[in-house]
Amino acid sequence: MRVLDIRGLAAGHGATTAVRGVDLHVDAGEVVGLFGPNGAGKTTTLLTVAGCLPAHDGSVEVLGRQVTRRTGARALAQWGVRLVPENRGLFRQLTVRENLLLGLDSHRGAKARIDEILAGLPQLRPLLGRRAGLLSGGEQQQLALSRALLGRPKLLLVDEMSLGLAPKVAAGLLVMLRDQAVERGVGVLLVEQHVPAALKVVDRGYALAHGRLVHTGTAAELRADPDVLASAYLGSAATE
Ligand code: ATP
Repeated sequence: MRVLDIRGLAAGHGATTAVRGVDLHVDAGEVVGLFGPNGAGKTTTLLTVAGCLPAHDGSVEVLGRQVTRRTGARALAQWGVRLVPENRGLFRQLTVRENLLLGLDSHRGAKARIDEILAGLPQLRPLLGRRAGLLSGGEQQQLALSRALLGRPKLLLVDEMSLGLAPKVAAGLLVMLRDQAVERGVGVLLVEQHVPAALKVVDRGYALAHGRLVHTGTAAELRADPDVLASAYLGSAATE
């Protein structure tokens, strides 16, 4: 089942267009990477899908429903879209448990729901009473991911999960994300700077440079293409 279908998307901030002509899709249970250098338009694409920015042109379909300027982030969340933003969006003064409760639309059955999520991310269990601000970067990212999964998403948008983390911690988190997505049949669109690590867990990927798609393919195809890695770090200069 197609959980995200983007065609000819143009989007940006105010009157400025940051991405144009983007075609991209994600199926249920699939992890799809979105790569590119700083400023390529990765976050802009995610924020547009999450309903935080309006599309300037083209179409965005989530779970077969057309997203319009009037849809908005709240409705998209109700449809089953969850965003794990680059800054993780945690409440640092609140405990891990309190942050998790914020991921639920209702507190009914909260304990069972949290137990179910912690079965897949067991390192968080002993930390339930700790303030989120006191967790390590990897633990905070696990918390952000757990909170998003508590909302039973169908489409999970993850921005720079490995930012500021040691490579080994980041690699472990990416594997955890892939396992959770597959187990729950969630489609994931993953923005990631650590392209080699991401290419070990994604099914397919897209690379943007200066707001345009410059590469797309399966993880194996992208791994075999030396231009992909170069363009992910250097921008379109490496692909022209
Ligand atoms: P990064 O890895 O640095 O986050 P990115 O690929 O996610 O890069 P975007 O953040 O989507 O890129 O930025 C795309 C373009 O939009 C850039 O030219 C950037 O300067 C611009 N931009 C980003 N945020 C804003 C904003 N709030 N207002 C105006 N322009 C913005």
